[in-house]
Amino acid sequence: MSVTRRQAVGVLATAGILGPLALWLTGPDTATSAHDAAFPIQKTDAEWQAALTPDRYRILRGHSTERAFSSPLNTEKRRGTFVCAACGQKLFSSKTKFESGTGWPSFWEPIEDAAVGTEIDRSYLMVRTEVHCARCGGHLGHLFSDGPEPTGLRYCINGLSLSFVTESAVS
Ligand code: FE
Repeated sequence: MSVTRRQAVGVLATAGILGPLALWLTGPDTATSAHDAAFPIQKTDAEWQAALTPDRYRILRGHSTERAFSSPLNTEKRRGTFVCAACGQKLFSSKTKFESGTGWPSFWEPIEDAAVGTEIDRSYLMVRTEVHCARCGGHLGHLFSDGPEPTGLRYCINGLSLSFVTESAVS
């Protein structure tokens, strides 16, 4: 006797394991998996891999974190704009950059609210607010509430997610 897919689902539901199975089928609770389709810029994983350096790909598409104090942008003090290294969208102004002491470029506000998106990140047994580029979905870093005035926010951003454009070059 063959078992149809519908019957199989019914059996699983009856057994009370449909929830865990669905979770297993949809993968881990990673930051952008739930709404990748909503980003204006869409590329396949292979296309991103081809477009980005391995280091940038690991952060922007793999949600990794660079080593603290490893980015030259951590000490970037010139006036200008920090743009998404994957799609070029303007993300943060040098006017909102501050020295957090964490070893990652830190900002108290994005250049405009719509430039970045946030999502709850439950990876590594922590609950954090993940920050990503609203245009391409690239992972940028995390958002904390221990930043300076006037917002009290700290956008803790991987330097590898960013490119810096000095003020004279910004349109
Ligand atoms: Fe982007």
